[in-house]
Amino acid sequence: MTKDQYIFEKLKLGCWHDIATVSDSDKIRCAICGAGGVYLSNPDFTTWEGFGKLWEMAKEKEWFNAFKWEPPTEEKDNDTISYNLIHPTRFRDAVAGFLGWEEE
Ligand SMILES: [Zn+2]
Repeated sequence: MTKDQYIFEKLKLGCWHDIATVSDSDKIRCAICGAGGVYLSNPDFTTWEGFGKLWEMAKEKEWFNAFKWEPPTEEKDNDTISYNLIHPTRFRDAVAGFLGWEEE
C-alpha cells in the first residue's frame, strides 16, 4: 500500500481504484468498483493539485486542530500551521504519520 492510498482509506474517501486497461478497448476500468473512463485515476497527494485536495479535506476533520501542532510549531495561535507543511510531500507525509502510517 502506498502512503497516498493509506491516507485515502483512512479518510474514507471511497474506492482506491485498481485500474486496468480493458482488454478489447483503450479504456480503463477499476477492477474493484467498476468505474471507468479515460480520466479515471487515484489522487497523487505529492502534487500541488493533490496538496490542495488533501488540505481542503484535512482541515474539515475534527483531528485537524490537534494535527497542526504536530510537529510543534513555534508560534502557537489557533490560525497558525507550520510553514514547513505548506509543501505537497511534507504535508502528505505529516498527515500520513499523524494517521498512523509507519515507515518500514
Ligand atoms: Zn474503483
